[in-house]
Amino acid sequence: MTSEDRTATGGEPVVRLRGIVKAFGSTTVLDGIDLDVARGEVVCLIGPSGAGKSTLLRCINGLERITGGSIEVGGERLSYDEKHLNGIRSRIGMVFQSFNLFPHMTVRENICVAQREVLGRGAAEARDRAHALLERVGLDHKAEAYPDNLSGGQQQRVAIARALAMDPALMLFDEPTSALDPELVGEVLAVMKDLASEGMTMVVVTHEMRFARDAADRVVLLADGGIAEQGPPENVLLRPSSARGQAFLQEIG
Ligand code: ADP
Ligand code: MG
Repeated sequence: MTSEDRTATGGEPVVRLRGIVKAFGSTTVLDGIDLDVARGEVVCLIGPSGAGKSTLLRCINGLERITGGSIEVGGERLSYDEKHLNGIRSRIGMVFQSFNLFPHMTVRENICVAQREVLGRGAAEARDRAHALLERVGLDHKAEAYPDNLSGGQQQRVAIARALAMDPALMLFDEPTSALDPELVGEVLAVMKDLASEGMTMVVVTHEMRFARDAADRVVLLADGGIAEQGPPENVLLRPSSARGQAFLQEIG
């Protein structure tokens, strides 16, 4: 994707959600979500625990099967055909609260394996890309280290580099700093802010209101199965118009 593509206005949204319903048994967690994410847009998804934030992200990359509605990623309708699903997933990077690096592989191997196996890149190309991405997250000196020997913040930066190695059209983050010691949160948020400013399309579930305020183009508050409120961060985070938004801000203090 060129920077011109990323800054282009209009055109296909990267993600288009229409009427998303997701139920687990008799419990409806998401009850009719409509959401578009434009190319280059950074959307922060906030809301109380249990609101369905993780479920929504998992629906976008097909880890959860929706009960109703439709999902398009890059203009392509998501279906649960395995081949199609693998294609869509290879274009969506996902970073979780737990870093999920392969413990028996070095940092560099962690970043190379899917490039080779999913994208079919040659060893040299995958290695070059791994080093470039490690440099970008400030960890090229750890290329030969094993995950266990890295701090949580470093592991999460490697996880981000690993996701970026697939040249994703979209990055999903699910509370990427929640498992970190407080002193390690900043280094991960800094990498995410860089990505955002470079034009990556991102959906970020976070409790870091400061990050949301600084990096989000739009904040979406999910509550009671729906979007309670959305808009620019200064509106949603500082002067919410909905009762639900005001209550949530009170809760998080
Ligand atoms: P959040 O990320 O906003 O905290 P989640 O998406 O994790 O919320 O969960 C939303 C609701 O869906 C919760 O009530 C949770 O218990 C329920 N839920 C999530 N995953 C499952 C599952 N696999 N089976 C049954 N219930 C689930
Ligand atoms: Mg969650």
